[in-house]
Amino acid sequence: MRQHPCFSDDVRGFARLHLPVAPLCNIGCRYCLRRFDCVNESRPGVCSRVLSPEEAVQLFCRVRDRLPNLTVVGIAGPGDALANFPTVRATLAAIRRIDPGIRFCLSTNGLRLAEFLPELRALEVDYITVTVNAMTEGIGERLYSYVERSSTRLFGRAAFRYLRTKQWRGIREAVRQGICCKVNTVVVPGINEQETWRIAKGAAAMGCYMQNLLPLVSVPGTDFADGPTLSPGVLHTLRQECARYLRQMRHCQRCRADAIGVLGQDMCLL
Ligand code: SF4
Ligand code: SF4
Repeated sequence: MRQHPCFSDDVRGFARLHLPVAPLCNIGCRYCLRRFDCVNESRPGVCSRVLSPEEAVQLFCRVRDRLPNLTVVGIAGPGDALANFPTVRATLAAIRRIDPGIRFCLSTNGLRLAEFLPELRALEVDYITVTVNAMTEGIGERLYSYVERSSTRLFGRAAFRYLRTKQWRGIREAVRQGICCKVNTVVVPGINEQETWRIAKGAAAMGCYMQNLLPLVSVPGTDFADGPTLSPGVLHTLRQECARYLRQMRHCQRCRADAIGVLGQDMCLL
């Protein structure tokens, strides 16, 4: 059985620890404001504080002592895990030396996934979530303001095309190498609802395990600050459409980047 509360039916059986060691990002989602948690994977509350690798390892040891059912350490922001790779690598490598059995999970926009896959495999990362919000250029350019390529920034359709190529290449390679992949899709009402099933179909074809539709949480100060909210009925319909292609996650708690514990019963140990 998968020992991960988000990838398993046993939601309450396993605890996870999110280590907030990744403050930077390399793309601009138009619904995100960097001082808030990554809304790809977190509810939009401010992460208490970013930890150094040393602090993160100390926190891991404290949590492991308190939670015998801790099975997963995840990196879920507050930025993108792979835009902060030296820090993430140092953190995971130190924890791996302490605990050879703990499962590693990380969330990313996918831009640098293929590039870092050999090192992720060496660290024995078992679970990866990639946020994919669009397949179509005209929609992608409405969701992303820029994408970094080396030391430059791409804009408009060129930015989205570059991101899309990198995301799907990363997903395909990660699945090939035995990593369990989930796709998150932030649903922005009026923009990408009709992309959700296309993403589900593409992700299924690549061997992804699951898709998680996340209704947009409007964040003040972003392009979608006053965006309409997705009704539960529309979300239900979209999930049904997507489920024709790929298993749907329905128990996501939109956890903070520093969440600790069993889903829905977070602890405060920071
Ligand atoms: Fe924000 Fe996450 Fe998008 Fe980066 S990937 S811009 S942190 S929502
Ligand atoms: Fe799991 Fe969702 Fe929380 Fe991520 S945000 S740890 S997918 S419940």
